[in-house]
Formats: sequence, structure tokens, C-alpha cells
Amino acid sequence: NSKDLGRNSWSYFSSEMHQRRQSRYLIGAHLQQALQNNEMHLAYQPKLSLGTGEVVGVEALLRWQNPELGTVPPDQFVPLAEDSGQIHEIGDWVLETAIGQARRWELSGRCIPVAVNLSARQFQREGLVARIKQLLSKYSLDASLLCVELTETCFLHSAEETALALHELREHGVKVSIDDFGTGYSSLSYIRTMSLDQLKIDRSFVNNINEAQRDRQLVSAMIAMSQALGLSVVAEGVETREQLDMLRQLGCDEVQGYLICRPIPAEELDKVLPDLAGKNWIDAGEER
Ligand code: C2E
Ligand code: MG
Ligand code: MG
Ligand code: MG
Repeated sequence: NSKDLGRNSWSYFSSEMHQRRQSRYLIGAHLQQALQNNEMHLAYQPKLSLGTGEVVGVEALLRWQNPELGTVPPDQFVPLAEDSGQIHEIGDWVLETAIGQARRWELSGRCIPVAVNLSARQFQREGLVARIKQLLSKYSLDASLLCVELTETCFLHSAEETALALHELREHGVKVSIDDFGTGYSSLSYIRTMSLDQLKIDRSFVNNINEAQRDRQLVSAMIAMSQALGLSVVAEGVETREQLDMLRQLGCDEVQGYLICRPIPAEELDKVLPDLAGKNWIDAGEER
């Protein structure tokens, strides 16, 4: 806050600005070699059904660990990769890695649908759908085991391309989910025309669902809308038992969040899946 800074505020801000530009520059420079140097991996976070209490899928989340920068969160480097155009190479690596992992799970006797986050930029470039089909066939993965998550931004910048791509993906059997629903430049008109399977309610609406009546009513309305449209609905960022119980009461289909499991590498997930299956997610709420 500028009040405490007094007469030095100008130099403070200018050095902070400098630092920020510097770190953007540094991150961007290291990012160029990140894939080649094997610095990226995927973490997987389960989606839990509130109907059955079972894990019904996972979301793949990109992780980058650089020897000099340490762990850089996707919120920081994905926008840089979008600006530089590198998102195409990275996004392709994410798709191939996630599809390969889903196939490995399938071969080991567990069908775990995998959701992949796609950037608006990826929809703007021709060939995305063809590439996804090619990867599914390369790994002999059933298309229904792949879900793509996209945000409302995709409809803002490339509505036509996105609409066409989603239509083709769904024709092929791939599932389509709208991420961070309600936080983008939300226009309900795309919901009218787009081919969709799922809405993911942003965690900012879930945070205070037990304390704030307004948030609860909003979530309830989003769930009702999803149901009316035949879409499944997932709540993100569930961190407490109270939130999970409330969401179940409101009729939400699935939840995701630290309460159930943090995003973890595939090998770790294999170890915790039996524990997750053993927990009584949906009855425990009734007993209390
Ligand atoms: P998202 O797709 O909405 O992912 C959910 C984010 O919430 C993830 O952050 C996840 O780790 C975090 N999260 C999950 N449960 C909880 C919880 O209970 N509490 C809190 N506070 N957070 C929770 P992460 O992994 O840092 O990813 C941030 C965003 O970066 C993602 O948001 C997504 O938009 C983007 N991203 C991640 N991986 C990829 C990718 O492979 N490609 C693209 N284009 N974007 C990606
Ligand atoms: Mg997502
Ligand atoms: Mg999200
Ligand atoms: Mg989000």
C-alpha cells in the first residue's frame, strides 16, 4: 500500500515494475528449453461423484520445475507461452502425455477418464481436432475417456473456430467441459449454441458457500441451469467437508478439491486411489 511508502514510492514502484519485467523475461527465457530439458510433468486431480462417492475421472494439470526458478505455477507461465506461441508445442505435449497415461490406466484394468485444459490459442490454430483424433488413435484410446476443459475466453476470441472444433470433438466422442464457469466474460448465449457436456463452477463461488447465502443461491442456480440443459456439473476448489455436504444437498454431480485430493503425479495417484475409494464421502455427512 502506497501510504507506507512515503517519498520513496516512485522508486519502489519502478523497481517493482522492473522486477516483474525481469522475472517475466527470465521465465520466458527458461520456458523455451523447459520441454527439451524434461522439466515439465503432469499432476492429476480426481473428480469425485457425489452420487456414488467414487472417483469418476481426473484432471491433468501442468507442472514446471526449473532448476533455477524452482516451481513455476501455470498461472504464471501459461500466459507467457500463449504470447510466445509456445503454447502449441506445450499443449500438444500435454495432450499426448495425458492420452498416453489414460491408455496406461485402461491397460491396467482401470478406466479413468482424463480431462485436459486447452488454451484459447489452441482453438485458434487449425489442426487441433485432427491432432486430437490422431493421438487417440495412436494410443488406441476410446475417445470418451478424453475430456477437454476450456474457459469462456475461447468464445470471446475465437467463437467460430471454437464452436466448430467442439462440435467435431463431440461427434468423435470426446467430452467437453466449460472451466471456471461464471468468471469469464460470461455470455450465456454460447451455452445456447455450443456442444457441451459439463460445466465446472469456479472455486470463487464455492469458497464461501456455507457462509454467504448469495453465493449459495448462485451455485444453486448454476446447478439448476446445468440440469435443465442436460449438462453435468462439477464444483471446483472444495476444501471442507461442509462445502462437500452443501454441494451434495444442492444437487451438484461432482466435486474436485484439496479435501478429496491435491493434484499429484500418476504414480502417486495409483497409490492413493484405493484409499479414496475406501472413504465414505457421501454417507459421512448424514451421520453428523
Ligand atoms: P483450472 O483448470 O481451473 O485448475 C484448477 C486449479 O485449482 C489448479 O491450479 C488446481 O491445482 C487448483 N485447485 C484444485 N483444488 C483446489 C482447492 O481445493 N483449493 C484451491 N485453492 N485450489 C485448488 P493450477 O494447477 O495452479 O492451475 C491453474 C490454472 O492453470 C488452471 O486452472 C488452468 O487454467 C491452467 N492450466 C493448468 N494446466 C494447464 C494445461 O495443461 N494447459 C493449459 N492451457 N492451461 C493449464
Ligand atoms: Mg481445468
Ligand atoms: Mg477451473
Ligand atoms: Mg480455475
